[in-house]
Amino acid sequence: METPLAVETEPVESEEISEPPLLTIGCSARSKEFMKRFYPEATLSQWNDWRWQLSHGITTANALSKIITLSPDECISPDVHPGAFPLRITPYYASLIDPQDPAHSIRRTVVPTQDEFLSSPGECQDPLGEDDHSPVPGLVHRYPDRVLFLVTRFCSTFCRYCTRSRMVGRQSTTSSSPSRWSDAIEYIQNHPEVRDILISGGDPLTLPDDVLESLIRRLRRIPHVEMIRIGTKVPVVLPQRITLSLVKMLKKYHPIWMSLHITHPEELTPEMQEATARLADVGIPLGSQTVLLKGINDSVPVIKSLMHGLLRFRIKPYYLYQCDPITGSSHFRTPVSKGLEMIQGLRGHTSGYAVPTYAIDAPGGGGKVPLLPEYVIGRDKDGIILRNYEGKIFRYPDI
Ligand code: SF4
Repeated sequence: METPLAVETEPVESEEISEPPLLTIGCSARSKEFMKRFYPEATLSQWNDWRWQLSHGITTANALSKIITLSPDECISPDVHPGAFPLRITPYYASLIDPQDPAHSIRRTVVPTQDEFLSSPGECQDPLGEDDHSPVPGLVHRYPDRVLFLVTRFCSTFCRYCTRSRMVGRQSTTSSSPSRWSDAIEYIQNHPEVRDILISGGDPLTLPDDVLESLIRRLRRIPHVEMIRIGTKVPVVLPQRITLSLVKMLKKYHPIWMSLHITHPEELTPEMQEATARLADVGIPLGSQTVLLKGINDSVPVIKSLMHGLLRFRIKPYYLYQCDPITGSSHFRTPVSKGLEMIQGLRGHTSGYAVPTYAIDAPGGGGKVPLLPEYVIGRDKDGIILRNYEGKIFRYPDI
């Protein structure tokens, strides 16, 4: 194990992988400089190997302190808060962090702070009521024709505002138990109304190719399953995972769609661009999901820059989410008016393709509720009265 500057790592068990030598993405000048500084014994091919990135995940405050200057509020000792949502950051994603600024956007999304231990009214561990809508372990069936299939509890990098922090990260390896999926697959087989499956977790793209393929193959054998979606942050935090062998495998099981969890324009690196291009080039439609986060991406210029960047990367801005009220999230949550301000700042002011749907996932399991600024401001006998993006008033003859 490479231990320059003594960056500690925690071994991650990975299941047997049968893919050929890595056909990985390139490495930017920024990444190379970071690698040389903090992992001088690593080779470029190791840095570009997603399994190396996983096995060198930063999981302790001590390891992180070798890379960034921690503030007193950051990195809580597990001795003080046993059972806290763990820390994990890939070396690649750590290279995007400003080492000196605790207010840096990307840094705030992955470095634990004292604020996580402040509980506020309305918060809870499972705000979306997923556990109450789970007919069998690992499956959430909330909407009529689609299910959420939670296939792993592992992520390569843990987001501090994770809606599933009650379960994610409690598994310290990429190991999976496909046998545990049997009940969920049987449930889907027995429910012909399910035509759309969202594979999520945890992050499904942390599974080895052969394990992921065996899962997708089993789902594809079910005649009424029309569409398989994969929810992932891997192209953002571990773009090295998007190997040619992975995309070649996925391509066999179309229609495969992908929802990418993307937070900030600074995530849009050359590595991510190459990873997402590989996915797009094999015909996987890409949509983004962005959580609106206080002081991180809650300004119109930042959100607009992100949405424009996504379109350049061939990713359709899909959802802008109000942050879910998980316990200890008040430092991340904005007022709903802030989300409406983001949409107001986009709609009409830039390409319609750049405007995501702003939504609240209704607490208790109500599902996604879309929110729009008030564009219909009244009605009279001649029709409805509309306000456009410039604030000008128009009447439409709604007979
Ligand atoms: S990638 Fe998704 S599941 Fe994993 S920690 Fe982040 S929000 Fe949670």
